Amino acid sequence: MKPEILEAADAAMPAALDRLFELLRIQSISTDSAFAEPCRAAADWLVEDLNSIGFTASRRDTPGHPMVVAHHDGPGPHVLFYGHYDVQPVDPLELWNSDPFDPRLEDTPKGKVIRARGASDDKGQLMTFVEACRVLKAETGALPCKITILFEGEEESGSPSLTPFLKANADELRADFAMVCDTGMWDADTPAICTTLRGLVGEEVTIQGADIDLHSGGYGGPAVNPLRVLSHILAGLHDADGRVTLDGFYDGVAPISNATRAQWDSLNFDEAAFLGAVGLSHLAGEQGFSALEQNWARPTAEINGIWGGYTGKGFKTVLPAKAHAKVSFRLVGTQDPAKVRSAFRAHVNAMLPPDCTATFEEHGSGPATVLPSDSAEFALSAAALSDEWPNAAVFTGGGGSIPIVGHFKEILGMNSVMIGFALDDDAIHSPNEKYNLASFQKGIRSWVRVLSRLGAA
Ligand SMILES: [Zn+2]
Repeated sequence: MKPEILEAADAAMPAALDRLFELLRIQSISTDSAFAEPCRAAADWLVEDLNSIGFTASRRDTPGHPMVVAHHDGPGPHVLFYGHYDVQPVDPLELWNSDPFDPRLEDTPKGKVIRARGASDDKGQLMTFVEACRVLKAETGALPCKITILFEGEEESGSPSLTPFLKANADELRADFAMVCDTGMWDADTPAICTTLRGLVGEEVTIQGADIDLHSGGYGGPAVNPLRVLSHILAGLHDADGRVTLDGFYDGVAPISNATRAQWDSLNFDEAAFLGAVGLSHLAGEQGFSALEQNWARPTAEINGIWGGYTGKGFKTVLPAKAHAKVSFRLVGTQDPAKVRSAFRAHVNAMLPPDCTATFEEHGSGPATVLPSDSAEFALSAAALSDEWPNAAVFTGGGGSIPIVGHFKEILGMNSVMIGFALDDDAIHSPNEKYNLASFQKGIRSWVRVLSRLGAA
């Protein structure tokens, strides 16, 4: 790669920012149907922009918000690039210091930032790739790889159209591998490639006792209390060491290898600061594991909500007929979401006393993602990132879930390389979201380097 291409990328920054700001002004909030029009406008804006670079791009309507699909020929491997143009709602609006849809550059003690909803998640990120393609095209007249782009408009609202769309268009979208730009850096100087993500099982349980709510004076004592039953059941999900007690829960959970442990230890993760940032000081998870290990390599069971009876103002001596809870499990390795769900249901049913019944409602599931980090595309990407940033690239895990990576594997048979330039303090999903100007500029330069290396390999 000629160094002039990077100089051209830097010289194009004002125009690149103008384009990003245009996209950020579009209020593409996917979860609220009142914003369907702006979602379509964001898709149309991207189609037009990609066509202007020489992609063959189109808006592809779905039962929900549209997808954007674009193709460009090239000599190297075929890369599918994924990002999403939809954003989270902006409430509470009064906590923003400026209009979330009036993007601006701000000086901060940590440098210049782009302030707007979607600046980091994911419009700023996806535009790093688009701008890299633009500068490569302008400087060399071609792209070093064959590229297909998929931009989704429902990532922040559960992606209802994604799986059907991938299945219906599998032949068109299948590539050698995917690059997913929706993750972050390790820190402001250290780029990261995320290699594992936890899976998720969501479950809601309702315990019913009597037919109707009772008075705790009239029936208290003789009648079963579903809230008490539910509390007992949920308390039984963990043992004293924080291990989950469900039958077979740890099937598919591999021990952490010495090499992985050494790599993660070398990151010098500051547990005290991590906990201190949210007012905590004590590591509460499964004993015998560090915070990073608990977050990246160990599964969890969490109670996300529990309700029933009377919770309003004042006091009511009700003995409720029903008790409810929402419970989720984060999965790792090859844990089977269906087996975890049935183990949970078996645990509940086994602990039900007479006169109580349990009903269950599914709230989605997906297995964990473990990406092979020994592929050529990983090595080339890591080398390219290490060239651009002050520190060499590190391989990290992720405690959350990015379902698209699992869908690419399952439906399209492709592995993904997860590269992103977001930082922990970007306030994605919160008021005053920002993206460091350095993330944007060096993100563009990073993709130029990654695509050039992939093409030259
Ligand atoms: Zn995102």
